[in-house]
Amino acid sequence: MTTAPEVTLREDVEVLTVANVTVEFGAIKALSDVSFTVRPGTVHAVIGPNGAGKSTMFNVLSGVYRASAGTVSLGSTELNGLRPHKIAQLGVARAFQNIALSGTQTVAENLMLGRHRLTHAGFLASGLRLPAATREQRVHRERVREIAEFLELGAKLDLPVGVLSYGDQKRVEVARALCTEPRLLLLDEPVAGMNAEETERMAQAVLEIRDELGISIVLVEHDMGMVMSIADRVTVLDFGRLIADGTPDETQHDPEVIRAYLGAGDDSTPADAVDRDHPHEESSP
Ligand code: ADP
Ligand code: MG
Repeated sequence: MTTAPEVTLREDVEVLTVANVTVEFGAIKALSDVSFTVRPGTVHAVIGPNGAGKSTMFNVLSGVYRASAGTVSLGSTELNGLRPHKIAQLGVARAFQNIALSGTQTVAENLMLGRHRLTHAGFLASGLRLPAATREQRVHRERVREIAEFLELGAKLDLPVGVLSYGDQKRVEVARALCTEPRLLLLDEPVAGMNAEETERMAQAVLEIRDELGISIVLVEHDMGMVMSIADRVTVLDFGRLIADGTPDETQHDPEVIRAYLGAGDDSTPADAVDRDHPHEESSP
């Protein structure tokens, strides 16, 4: 990403506070009294073995699930209880674990969909090609190009998403989220199913998003190798409970974390490297 175009550091990035969040599905407590803080402009990883509650937390943060107790707030704004589109309007964008793009549409068209929240002219005016709408469309197309170039997708804007490699498609998904100009980006297992090279590229992209856009990133991830190399802070869940919260170095040497991963019969132990082939068997709503 040497040719990164101009990007503006956001100055409205606020702390995300998760306080005593509990989520119950019938008798199952998917999350029990979980609290952590995401400092502005940092990469914060939420990790844990299968069933730990990671996707549930992702869905609570984006408003898909409602916490039965506890609060989530961005700055002084409470997010819990708000619907997903409202949370998106407040500047929280999510990229899904399973690609949620239209494969027959081009990269540019998919990214323009991400701009919708910001479109003022509206559908009718756009359809009629009124001057203001045309001008607005041009500005959006320009920004879409910048974001695509930022994620090394500039040369692929006119290709249908379906013909791209898996790694490229996942970066389109992240680019689409960035097209909403978020203050906080939520990523659910962005490297699931990726090979080592694609994983490294995604890791670099996440760091550049943090450093060049200045936004916060919550990274829900199973792949510990990836997390340990890029996260500023790590929250570890196990059976819905927070078992550790600290720097990558602190958490990966935490005996309880090691026990949780080993106890789960999980092959992605804290000391493990990147290239496990984690199939994307889980789905995000
Ligand atoms: P992870 O993403 O860490 O693998 P999840 O958040 O998907 O974990 O799941 C945590 C727990 O909550 C699991 O026991 C899972 O079976 C349960 N769970 C998750 N979503 C639902 C749901 N929609 N209905 C019932 N149980 C669920
Ligand atoms: Mg999950």
